[in-house]
Amino acid sequence: METQHSGTNDAGLPQMNVRASSYFLLRAAHPCAACDRSTTVFALAVPAGHECTEADAVLDDEDADSPGMTPGAFHEWLYRPVQWQRIPGPALVSQVRLLDPPVAQALQALAPHYRPDAERDRQWTNFCEHCGKAIREGTLYASAGQTFSPKDAQAAAAIQVREQHAPFEAFCAMFWTDSYRNKWPLFARMGYECSEAD
Ligand SMILES: [Zn+2]
Repeated sequence: METQHSGTNDAGLPQMNVRASSYFLLRAAHPCAACDRSTTVFALAVPAGHECTEADAVLDDEDADSPGMTPGAFHEWLYRPVQWQRIPGPALVSQVRLLDPPVAQALQALAPHYRPDAERDRQWTNFCEHCGKAIREGTLYASAGQTFSPKDAQAAAAIQVREQHAPFEAFCAMFWTDSYRNKWPLFARMGYECSEAD
């Protein structure tokens, strides 16, 4: 279990960067690359209306040619109040580094082979239920046709979706939102029809 408490670390800085009033636990069968057997893998997603902090976006928006922030401005930026931004669509969360303890506890019971990987910054990782080898997210999420990136409704139907009606809070380094078209069949499976805005 994570020892750090939700919201801030010892320095009082924000840690969690996503929160929602509920979350989805996705479950699917995946062929383990190490032993070739089919194992159960899990993923987490948050509903439309979840909230994210803007911290990363602010840094990324800095112009590469700009002189950058002065130390004073950086200090101010670092210690500014956390700003939560409501995201209108759902998201598959990825590279999860921190989970609110109640969520982590629920996963312990529901998804025992999905747990922090001590060899990889304690990133939440699926482990093969047969050989115990880690299953990297690169083989699960990134491109169409992978286990949590089904190509169409038929492939998406193989994913079991369980909505957990409990608060969700986490720190994740990557969000697959509905701006990624290849996640639309997955989101449709979760009950969100995505379409081109015109
Ligand atoms: Zn295996």
